[in-house]
Amino acid sequence: MLRILFASSEAYPLIKTGGLADVSGSLPRALLKLGHDVRILMPAYRDALQNARAAGVKTVATFTLENAVSGDHTVSIMETRLPGSRVKTWLLDCPALFDRPGNPYLDENNQDYADNDLRFLLFSRAAAELGLNRCGLDWQPDVVHCNDWQTGLTPVFLDQLGLQSAAAEQPRPATVFTIHNLAYQGLYGYETFTATQLPANFWHHEALEFHNQFSLIKGGIVYADRVNTVSPTYAREIQSERFGYGLQGLLRHRGEKLSGILNGINDEEWNPGTDAYLMHRYNRRTIAQRTKNKLELQKQLGLKVDASIPLLGFIGRLVEQKGVDWILANINLMLERGAQLVVLGNGEHAFEAALREAAALAPLSIAATIGYNEALAHRIEAASDIFLMPSKFEPCGLNQLYSLRYGAVPLVHNVGGLADTVIDTTASSLEDGSATGFVFDSLARDEPGDIALQTTLGRALDLYTDKPCWQSLQSNGMQQDNSWKQSALKYERLYRAAIADVAGKSPAYLT
Ligand code: ADP
Repeated sequence: MLRILFASSEAYPLIKTGGLADVSGSLPRALLKLGHDVRILMPAYRDALQNARAAGVKTVATFTLENAVSGDHTVSIMETRLPGSRVKTWLLDCPALFDRPGNPYLDENNQDYADNDLRFLLFSRAAAELGLNRCGLDWQPDVVHCNDWQTGLTPVFLDQLGLQSAAAEQPRPATVFTIHNLAYQGLYGYETFTATQLPANFWHHEALEFHNQFSLIKGGIVYADRVNTVSPTYAREIQSERFGYGLQGLLRHRGEKLSGILNGINDEEWNPGTDAYLMHRYNRRTIAQRTKNKLELQKQLGLKVDASIPLLGFIGRLVEQKGVDWILANINLMLERGAQLVVLGNGEHAFEAALREAAALAPLSIAATIGYNEALAHRIEAASDIFLMPSKFEPCGLNQLYSLRYGAVPLVHNVGGLADTVIDTTASSLEDGSATGFVFDSLARDEPGDIALQTTLGRALDLYTDKPCWQSLQSNGMQQDNSWKQSALKYERLYRAAIADVAGKSPAYLT
């Protein structure tokens, strides 16, 4: 049994802006099921605290973080359970920094909070203090699992503070740092660095400085015992110039300690057999029922109601990363081929406006719902024939995994977790029963992405008319096991490797 402190800036269902929340809501549960003592630590945002109230919240510790982030801060730990589970969850309460409505990172004008650096420095520092059992909670983790730049400084603080406790013969816990998306790095100025009160030699390109900026993600990459990302392919990609954002050299340097573990899905939330959001539930054997969901959705969204029309789905943040421009470039092809497109998402205004306009021009064929809507997301997965995920990069991606489970055949770009989870349909993959979707590869062919998408979309629409073949694709995907269990076992091995690293390095580490 391992004691694991899981530090994350969001966790479903307490608060969610993206895939990180899904992982933080699922992996700790899966670890608990494996018999580990796992506790989540996240900031006590106003909405998270509100959502936790039903499960009961009590203050279990109040302490002062001395000399943390430009001075002393008195904070509390409020204990609850992750709703719907037995996972102990600690909310770091510091009202001046976290008691704000809405999004964890953005203000009401969708701008980053001006003090995000200080908010997450404090959070990282608190995680380190808890990791060293210095907050009066009488619980010492074996490993602290940090996630993304918001917790990037935790391994650094643990290293620093751990030196003192190592001298006092109390070893620091091992650290694992997971990169969920390298595009978000937490870059700030020198002033933020001084607020950490770390020794001046940390301002160095081999430490926390990155092109004259203070990089919080580098804290995790340089100082964690083990670094991982959320798919094996993304772990390789980020070591290259195309995907590395200037960190590829450092990531290659840490290559031996860098690995990829695919995310699983919450298979209770995402199960077409029990999904409460659906009018018509189904499984692999009752797949014929699925069509009823498609007809419902067509009706609900004002599209032409016709089961034989191929329905394409897209759900996600409307940002460059997700390949929305490539979808927009192919709208004419979709219309020419008599397909329908259903989009759900929000993000950049230009993409939102372009999608709205496309829907206004062809209201029987295109529906664009701008916003965040959990119920509609489930209904789209249960209704689409083809699910589009033409991301330019994709660390893991969850929607293609939901699609596989729901029989919405995914059409994806050959990058990151998409490449690791979807098997392209060819004569031989159909023959051996491994085909689960359609994969286009603009990189290998050095072809513009919209053109590569166009060719593959044509291929998918051609095959759609071959019903037996299509059903075998759906059935292959629905059989794939993407639950958290296998991934949680891999994390367990990673934690043990990190612990072994710390034990192995302690003599040098003490010098
Ligand atoms: P990312 O973390 O890059 O946003 P992922 O595919 O890993 O992408 O995870 C996105 C998660 O957020 C999925 O659970 C997806 O269903 C959900 N999601 C994204 N946008 C919306 C939306 N507009 N409405 C409902 N769910 C959404």
